[in-house]
Amino acid sequence: MRKRDLDRFRKVLEERRAALEERTERAAGEGRETVTQGGEDYVDDAVTQYAREFLLSLSDLERKQLQLVEDALERIDDGTYGECITCGENVSEVRLKAVPWAATCVKCQEIAERGNSMMLGGPSHADGDE
Ligand SMILES: [Zn+2]
Repeated sequence: MRKRDLDRFRKVLEERRAALEERTERAAGEGRETVTQGGEDYVDDAVTQYAREFLLSLSDLERKQLQLVEDALERIDDGTYGECITCGENVSEVRLKAVPWAATCVKCQEIAERGNSMMLGGPSHADGDE
């Protein structure tokens, strides 16, 4: 990959990392707040529990993404950015533009996703509209 492109992806990734760090810290803070407010007065325990789990899972997801972004930045430093970590083929630039922290090519990603949903016993309901 050309240095100019690498620099551009590095910048995108660094911005993403900063945004994620801020969000995960804020989500962690809000999670604590919800917990300390308890369910004593007007908030139903179940609602509080739900809100807490939602915030925890949100920050969990974002922590995972943060890890992916950091790995991608390391690969830029190593000079392996843009190569699929599974098969070694080049990851298409279209994919990198859409998902700059992508560590695998589309083919390997699909295989991994199929494996995951098989492990979970079916398609996941966690992809997003709620
Ligand atoms: Zn691959």
